[in-house]
Amino acid sequence: MVEEKDNSKNVKKKIEEKEVVKEKKVEEEKSVLLELPGIGPKSAEALENAGYGELINIAASSSGELSSVADIGEATAQKIINSARDKLDMGFNTGENLMNKRKLVGKISTGSKDLDVLLGGGIETQSTTEFFGAFGSGKSQLGMQLAVNVQLPEKDGGLNGRAIYIDTEGTFRPERIIQMAEAKGLDSKKILKNIFVARAFNSDHQVVLAEKAKDIIKEKNIKLVIVDSLTGLFRTDYLGRGKLNPRQQKLNRHMATLQKLGYTNNVAILVTNQVMSRPDMMFGDPTTAIGGHIVAHASKFRIYLRKSKQTKRIARLIDSPYLPDGEAVFNVTEKGVEN
Ligand code: ADP
Ligand code: MG
Repeated sequence: MVEEKDNSKNVKKKIEEKEVVKEKKVEEEKSVLLELPGIGPKSAEALENAGYGELINIAASSSGELSSVADIGEATAQKIINSARDKLDMGFNTGENLMNKRKLVGKISTGSKDLDVLLGGGIETQSTTEFFGAFGSGKSQLGMQLAVNVQLPEKDGGLNGRAIYIDTEGTFRPERIIQMAEAKGLDSKKILKNIFVARAFNSDHQVVLAEKAKDIIKEKNIKLVIVDSLTGLFRTDYLGRGKLNPRQQKLNRHMATLQKLGYTNNVAILVTNQVMSRPDMMFGDPTTAIGGHIVAHASKFRIYLRKSKQTKRIARLIDSPYLPDGEAVFNVTEKGVEN
C-alpha cells in the first residue's frame, strides 16, 4: 500500500519534470529573433551563438557587425536593426505624445472614496499598483473587490472591462465575489463569468501565466490583471541566501512582463506583496516588503496596508511619482471594501 502510494507520487513527479522540460524546449525553440524580417532559423541560430540572442543586442549593433556574423547583406542587416529598434520602442517621444497616452489612462474605484482619493481617483491603467501588508491586512479583499468594480460602467468607478486573477495562494473565493456583487445589486453570475482565474502552483507557472495573459487581453476586453501574491511562490521556490540573486533576477523579469502588459494594453496591473518581519529594526515599522528594491522600483503606486480595530484598515501611499504621500482609512465588511 505504502509502496503504491510512493510509486504514484514518483510518476506524478516524473510527469511534472517532463512538463518543465517541455516548457523549456518550447522557450528555446522559439527565438524572438524570428519575429524580425529577413531572419530565418539559420541566421537566428548564428546570431544567438554569437551572443545576439535578444532584440536589444541586435538594436545596439551596427549593420557591418551583423552582416558578418549572420552572413547577410549590409542593407538587410540595417533593416533588421531598424526593425529591432521599432519593436523595442526605442528612441524619443514628444511630451505631447506621452500626454496623449496619459489621457487614455483609466481608473478603477477601490470601493472606498478615501482610498480612491489617496490614489488620485482609483488604481490606474498603464501602471502597476502594489498593495503590501501583513496577513489579513486586506490585500486579497481589495483584489477581489477591484475584480468586481472594474466591470462597472465608468460613471460608477469601473472601466466596463473584465479581470484576470492569478491566484498563487489559493485564496480567491467565488463566494466572496458573489457577496460583493450582490451588495451592489449586480448579477453575481455575470460578474463571476467576467473574472478569469488561474491558480499558479510555482513561480515558473506564475511567470508563464503572466506571459499568456496578453493572448486574451484584447479578445476578452481585460482591463485589470491581478497577481495575488506576487512574491509568495518566489519566496518558497528560492529558499536560502544563495538563491537570492536568481530569485531577484526572475522576479525582475516577471515585473517587467507585467509592466509592459499594462502599458501596452492600457490595463491596470495590481500586485499584492507580503511583508517580512525585520527584528533587527529597532525603530519605525519593523516590516519590509518582500522582493526589496526590485519590486519597489517596478511598482508605480505602493500602498502599505495595516489592520486596525475590527473592520478598519489603514492604507498609506508610499513614494508616488506625482501624488502626495498620505493615509486613508477604509473598511472591509461583509459587503466588501467600503469607506
Ligand atoms: P490578506 O492581506 O492576507 O490577503 P485578506 O484580504 O484576505 O488578507 O483579508 C482577510 C480579512 O478580510 C479577514 O480577516 C476579515 O477581516 C476580512 N473579511 C474577509 N471576508 C470577509 C467577509 N465575508 N465579511 C467580512 N469581513 C471579511
Ligand atoms: Mg491574501
